[in-house]
Amino acid sequence: MTDCIFCKIVSGEIPSKKIYEDEDIIAFHDINPQAPVHFLVIPKEHIVSAMEVNAENSGIIARCFEVIAALAKKEGLSEGFHIINNCGEKGGQTVMHLHFHVLSGRSLGETLV
Ligand code: 5GP
Ligand code: ZN
Repeated sequence: MTDCIFCKIVSGEIPSKKIYEDEDIIAFHDINPQAPVHFLVIPKEHIVSAMEVNAENSGIIARCFEVIAALAKKEGLSEGFHIINNCGEKGGQTVMHLHFHVLSGRSLGETLV
């Protein structure tokens, strides 16, 4: 996807503060952090949103959660953190490339869910 910001981050065309990378996944700091710790974990493959997850690509989503767990340990988040996925326009998604927000160090409102 040539006009996708996160695909450009994957290719290196747009710089990012990367904290993890493997063949299928990267994680990097959010440019506009909403908490003291705020990074994004994304599949390198251009999956538009959680609505596009299917039997063919769900393995990569499972791997995103493995990476989140490993990074949480590495970044010292053992006391807990938020994982947020905004899905679709009405779900507040602004970048149409599936991503998981990982936030820690600030309560995000315990009444949301
Ligand atoms: P969404 O609203 O789609 O769930 O989240 C998109 C996130 O991507 C936002 O938190 C926003 O700050 C972040 N973001 C948008 N553009 C860039 C960018 O160029 N670099 C980085 N590191 N984050 C970005
Ligand atoms: Zn993309």
